[in-house]
This record gives sequence, C-alpha cells and structure tokens, in this order.
Amino acid sequence: MQFQGKAPFESWGRYPNYDAKIVPLNWQTDFPAVVKQYDGMPSGALAVGMGRSYGDSCLLKDGHLLVATGMNRLLSWDQENGILTAEAGLTLAQLLDFAVPRGYFLPVSPGTKYVTLAGAVANDIHGKNHHVAGTFGSHVTQFELVRSDGTRLHCSPTDNPDWFGATIGGLGLTGVITWIQIKLKPIVSRLIDYEGIQFHGVDEFLALTEQYKHVEYTVSWVDCTSTGKNAARGIFMIGDHSKIPDKLTPSPEPKLVFPIEAPGFALNSMTVSAFNTVFFHKQMKPRVRALQDYEPFFYPLDKVLHWNRMYGKSGLLQFQYAIPWESAREGTIAILNEVAKSGLASFLAVLKAFGDVPSPGMLSFPQPGITLALDFPIKADKSFPLFERLAAMTLDFGGKLYPAKDARMTAAQFQTAYPQWRDFARYKDPLLTSSFWERVTAE
Ligand SMILES: Cc1cc2nc3c(=O)[nH]c(=O)nc-3n(C[C@H](O)[C@H](O)[C@H](O)COP(=O)(O)OP(=O)(O)OC[C@H]3O[C@@H](n4cnc5c(N)ncnc54)[C@H](O)[C@@H]3O)c2cc1C
Repeated sequence: MQFQGKAPFESWGRYPNYDAKIVPLNWQTDFPAVVKQYDGMPSGALAVGMGRSYGDSCLLKDGHLLVATGMNRLLSWDQENGILTAEAGLTLAQLLDFAVPRGYFLPVSPGTKYVTLAGAVANDIHGKNHHVAGTFGSHVTQFELVRSDGTRLHCSPTDNPDWFGATIGGLGLTGVITWIQIKLKPIVSRLIDYEGIQFHGVDEFLALTEQYKHVEYTVSWVDCTSTGKNAARGIFMIGDHSKIPDKLTPSPEPKLVFPIEAPGFALNSMTVSAFNTVFFHKQMKPRVRALQDYEPFFYPLDKVLHWNRMYGKSGLLQFQYAIPWESAREGTIAILNEVAKSGLASFLAVLKAFGDVPSPGMLSFPQPGITLALDFPIKADKSFPLFERLAAMTLDFGGKLYPAKDARMTAAQFQTAYPQWRDFARYKDPLLTSSFWERVTAE
C-alpha cells in the first residue's frame, strides 16, 4: 500500500491548503486496520472522496486523509426497480455510465458528476429538483458504516435509524461508509426538455419559482455584478427528462482541461461582468425552448476539467446560504446588493428555491426557502471581509451556510445555525475529524 508524506489532496476551492498523510482505502476491510498499520492510532483521520467540497470539510491538517476512491466496485443491480448497490467511492460519473444505458438516472444530482456516493451522502447534497425530490439522502435505502473500533453498522431507515440520520449529512465524522444502496429514477432518453426564461430582479424570480413549482428541475443563474434596473437579472432554467424514447448511450470523456494556473488578475470585476453580460444575452430572446443533452443541463462546468485553476493558485471562496421563506426575499435582495456594492464580482451565482421535503440527515443543510451560491477569488484583504459581512447578514436573516462549501464560517455562526450539533457530536467517531469540525467546534 502506498504512503505519501505530503498531500497532493486539495479541496475544490484550494483554500485552505494543508499537509496531510494520504492513505488509500481500496477495500471495504481496509479501515480501521490501515490506519493502525502506519502510526499506531494517529491523532486523527478523515475519509475523503473526490475533494469536490470547496473548503476544509474534506481536509485534515497534519492528519490522515483516507482517500476512498479506490473502493468503487459495483456490488449489485436490480434492473426492474432501479436499485443499485456500490462501494462508497464510486463516482456519480461512473454510476451514470452504468445506469443511463440501462434506462436510469440519479434521483438527485449536484452541479458536478465528479463526486463520490459517500461524498454525496456525507453532505446530503441537493440538486435542481430539491423542491420535489428532497436531498440525495432521501433516496438512499441502506449503507454500511465502519467505526474506528472495528464495529460494522448496517444502517437504514429501520435498522440503526439514528446512525442512518447522523451519517447522512454527517460530514464523514460518524465512521467510514463502505457501501451504499440507492434507488434510481427511470428515464427513456438522454435528452432534457429545457426552457430558459430571462428575469429581472428577485420578485420576478420568486414569481417564476411559484409558477414552475411542479416542474422537476428549476435553477437560476443570476448576474450579481449588475446594479440599477439590471440588478439581479438572470435566467430561470427549467427542465425535465424527455418522455420521447431516444438514445441512452454513455457520455463521452471530457476533452478540455484548464491548462495552466491563471494569474491572479485574470478574473476581475471587469472580466466577470463581461462574462455575465455575454451569458445573459447568449439567450437573445426572453424565452428559449430546446431539447438538450443532460450533460450541459446538469454539468455545464464539468466540460472543462479543473476549471478551479482559473482562479489561480490562491484559490476561491464559495459562499452558499439557505434563508427560510419568512425572510428569504428581503435577505436575498440585501445580500445581492451587498455583493454588487462590494465590486467583488462572482463569476458564478446560482439562485434556487428549496422545497419542504424533509431532509433525513441530522445536520443536513437544505431547509425551505432560498439558497444562493457565489464564488469569489481569494483576496484576503477584500473577499474575507466581504464574506464576513455576508455570513453575518445570513444569520441575521435566520439563515445558515453550507459546510460543504465553507472555509470561513466562525464557530459561533456554525453553532447558532446548527444547534443540533451537540446531539450530533454523540455519534462522532473518536478517531475521525476534519479541519472544518475542529474550526467550528473550537469555541
Ligand atoms: C462544480 C461543483 C458543483 C457542485 N454542486 C453542488 C450542488 O449542486 N449541490 C450540492 O449539494 N453540492 C454541490 N457541490 C458540492 C459537492 O457535491 C459536495 O461537496 C460533495 O460532498 C463532494 O463529494 P466528494 O466525493 O468530492 O467528497 P469530498 O469533498 O472529498 O468529501 C466530502 C465529505 O464526504 C466525506 N466522505 C468521503 N468519503 C467518505 C467515506 N467513504 N465515508 C465517510 N465519509 C466520507 C468526507 O469526510 C467529507 O466530509 C458542488 C461542487 C462542485 C465542485
């Protein structure tokens, strides 16, 4: 088994950047034996997947990172009911390559397919259909959790249900997940019936959200560099799997790789504003309908591998909130204004309404209301103070930040927004921890 002293493992935001010992997990029986083999019991360990979390929830400074992507075998498949059982390191891309030709799709998909099943469970991820389908964890039927004392727990809604709830959205802290079973949804085509609708302002976004609340997928791109009459202009995108039978071939491999580390100045408010104007007017008409392949609909960013390099070596910060309906409109307008006023452009800003399907996880992020996700290049003197203002505003509006995307939330902010964290801590494995957890439980 290979062992490296320095970590090539980065989170997607590439910030913070910590040294760690990399320990591959290739077999379901590797943990906990593999950790003891190196150091006796080390001070801490964390299972990780593809490192698509933006901040430090997939990092452990000076600890052991148990990279579980080698544990990616398909274990069983029920064609009639679409029930798939696979090892926890299987990526959603690998799953789709298997399932789409057999007429099935993910019940919930994030904005990238390069995440593992365990990563999707540990952050109880959401997709464009949260308002009708809930989170990823709502479609997981069972999994195995291995604790550092060697105990193996079979978890489902009826078998060890408390461990099931603690582990979904449990940030990889309750144990190592070895395999997962999930129920997929049937499809008859790769194609998506897509419609893009221009909107101007948060009220138009909210009206469209209400009008299309029964459509399977809804998400909006919003231009948060514009002010005045163009403030919060955007494109409301809706879609559903086409009902007309068509090809069900696997996706081709992506060919484009972002080649170099972009210099820090490549992404500034002028380039972002220009990109946003082009994106907004790419759709010349207020309303466009099309039959679109699922790849550009679900995973437009996956077309360019390692697009995070565009932000240069210092990386990027992502900020994502969920604000409950009571103050969702007011909070969203205030936060978008604050971003526009700061002049710190966000290249990507995604706005979406969360529905009221309850999340199965104790610490799950989604709650009914609005969620907004923004990216900022790291500039300690500018983006950190802006992040602090936005985080404080989020809490004032009764909202919370998403641990999967976070690198800057304070302990007080986490503990206020996730008061259940103390109950959750009873399920935490004594060996497992993350830099995120150490940070947000420090005070
Ligand atoms: C472009 C992009 C778009 C995204 N879009 C969305 C979106 O739409 N919705 C959304 O919710 N998220 C989204 N994300 C975030 C991403 O889905 C999550 O961060 C996901 O958890 C990453 O999975 P991963 O395999 O990369 O795991 P990592 O980031 O490596 O780890 C994530 C968590 O999983 C735990 N973990 C990993 N393997 C195991 C294991 N075997 N046992 C126990 N715990 C384990 C880790 O400890 C950690 O807590 C996006 C990320 C990117 C880069």
